[in-house]
Amino acid sequence: MKQILFLIAVSVAFSVTFAMNFKPPTAAERLSAIGSTKGLPEILSKALDPGKDFKPIPTPKPGDWLAEHRETGQSFDNFVKSKPNRPDKTRSKIYLQPLGEFPEGKIAFLERLKEYAAAYFAIKVQVLPSLTLSDQIITSRTNPYTGNRQILTVDVLFLLKKHVPADAFCVLAITMEDLYPDPSWNFVFGQASLRERVGVYSFARYDPAFYGNKRNKDYEKILLWRSCKVLAHETSHMFGLQHCIYFKCVVNGSNHLKESDSRPLHLCPVCLHKLQHSIRFNVVERYSNLFHFYREVGFDDEAQWVAGRLRWIVGEKAARAITERKGAH
Ligand SMILES: [Zn+2]
Ligand SMILES: [Zn+2]
Repeated sequence: MKQILFLIAVSVAFSVTFAMNFKPPTAAERLSAIGSTKGLPEILSKALDPGKDFKPIPTPKPGDWLAEHRETGQSFDNFVKSKPNRPDKTRSKIYLQPLGEFPEGKIAFLERLKEYAAAYFAIKVQVLPSLTLSDQIITSRTNPYTGNRQILTVDVLFLLKKHVPADAFCVLAITMEDLYPDPSWNFVFGQASLRERVGVYSFARYDPAFYGNKRNKDYEKILLWRSCKVLAHETSHMFGLQHCIYFKCVVNGSNHLKESDSRPLHLCPVCLHKLQHSIRFNVVERYSNLFHFYREVGFDDEAQWVAGRLRWIVGEKAARAITERKGAH
């Protein structure tokens, strides 16, 4: 339930009711949501052709996002009609604003997130100098259930709004502190203001130590994997993408950790079309950068998926040339 509130907080307007009867779209409806590829370059058309690499969204189980939220979907055409914020010559960068302490390996963790955002959104990303909590006027409290400190999101957003750099497309604060948006709430994972182009996301609850559980040896990789996913999902909202109801996709809504863990890191063709339309990146270059990132950080399943996708788009030989290139990203 708490995560529902968070996702509303970070999302654009859509209504929430509680007697949902979500029926997954048909294959024809999924294709239609991708939009027309007429007149697009051949490579881009191929990248928007789902082929066999994308799974349709399944029927939700009780407790899943689509079992509890009415979402009618945002097709590519609807996205264009909504006139979302787009990066331009003046507002051309994503800024990441670290807030408070990060675990050991902090520099590497932030550097990885920066690399990932740059590869994913194919725009410049800059990490701002960390803000120390004690230097800021941010309300905090101790959560009575967890005993952990939490900071108030609205104070963070207020602070960010005051310092949005002139060339920022958006400023995203990232923190290992737990968050709450209002004294009556237990917690939120994050909150954003699309109009003011600022957001704050917490990774606190992706760390087993938060729940008093032991961190096993690959916890840093899992923390990075979940953090990359939340960064890709929430930053997509900053570009005006609403939750995806067509394929298994990083932009699917999620109600609980198990559901968000089952979301893939990739964008489905509907969401890829939206982001490509907004940013105008080269799809092959983007997949190539993502492939090398995934391989370097050991996200093997994702690397394999991207390699398969590249084979579909540019053919076996050209895909091999990309994936065998060393150290490029
Ligand atoms: Zn969302
Ligand atoms: Zn999607």
